[in-house]
Amino acid sequence: MVGPGVEVAGVVKADAYGHGGLEVSRVLLAEGARWLAVSSVEEGVQLRTGGIRDARILVMGGFLPYEGEAVVEHNLTPAVHSMSQIRDVDRLASASGRPIAYHLKIDSGMGRLGSRAGAEEIVETLVETRNARLEGLMTHFASAADYTSTQTVEQSSYFKGICDYLRAAGVRAPYLHTSSTIAIGYGRTEDWNTLVRAGHALYGYVSPARGDAPRQALDVRPALTWKAKLLAVKEIPEGALVGYGGSFRAPRAMRIGILGAGYADGMFHRLSNRGKVIADGKLTAILGTVSMDLTTIDLSHTEALGVGDEVTLLGTEGEATLDAQQIAKVAGTISYNILCSISARVHRVYV
Ligand SMILES: *Cc1c(COP(=O)(O)O)cnc(C)c1O
Repeated sequence: MVGPGVEVAGVVKADAYGHGGLEVSRVLLAEGARWLAVSSVEEGVQLRTGGIRDARILVMGGFLPYEGEAVVEHNLTPAVHSMSQIRDVDRLASASGRPIAYHLKIDSGMGRLGSRAGAEEIVETLVETRNARLEGLMTHFASAADYTSTQTVEQSSYFKGICDYLRAAGVRAPYLHTSSTIAIGYGRTEDWNTLVRAGHALYGYVSPARGDAPRQALDVRPALTWKAKLLAVKEIPEGALVGYGGSFRAPRAMRIGILGAGYADGMFHRLSNRGKVIADGKLTAILGTVSMDLTTIDLSHTEALGVGDEVTLLGTEGEATLDAQQIAKVAGTISYNILCSISARVHRVYV
């Protein structure tokens, strides 16, 4: 979608949003990605020691003083968030005898990571730090999906102002990058620059926009299906209570199923008595409270499922679909949170 002039860094932080950092990275590299992005040095080291050698790895959270050696040893590319960190990279580079590339993150108005230093101060720091190599300038948008807000335009123009000043001062940074999934999907082409950082879209999601947004143009589908097995199926009489606190009382005789998945697997506790799963091709209700390891569901609509059979917690079965955005709405959170919460205990199968 971004075209040949723009590189795509595959964002594989948080174990690739729960999908498996190494497995996803291998696929992305096989598809031609040259950049991956992670959150921490530790995540970068895990990719390197897992055999990801050829890709550049941007560490978006930067590094702490004790992580400098690992940055050098594993050839990671840190995002740097202050002038003093540029000096840290410079010292690290002169101590290790190699130039170290870094990307300087500008806080253009999100008020999270990034330097608030003005362009002149940045140029002064760059002049003093000849061993560190500025390879990229980056920023991150706070409200890219909100077309009722002017924040993105303001952030974009602040960032552009810094980039223009630096260019005029003779500073060359081959990579300028600001856009993640939403700015890609809604076609903020002027913000794509030379690199975009795509996470959510790789896993099949683009969040809905607010206000007068252009058409969302990324054609993606959820990459992940999540299933759990029935540990028991039984009949309960009218009036029977289900689960901790007896928060569900059967309004009639019912058939129920007890799934081997609970909040320790990533089933949000907030789905208690509200969420749904797909059983035998139909959406059906979660009954009572979600427990640590178990979730009880209504199976009154089918006699087809028994012990050991699978129920879909996230995915599509026949006509019924349940994706992370739908689950997030019921759980009172965002789709990213649903995906990242599927815990390590859930066995991953790659097909
Ligand atoms: C997580 C992250 C991204 C990726 O965002 P998506 O919305 O998942 O595409 C990009 N940039 C930064 C700085 C991030 O932290």
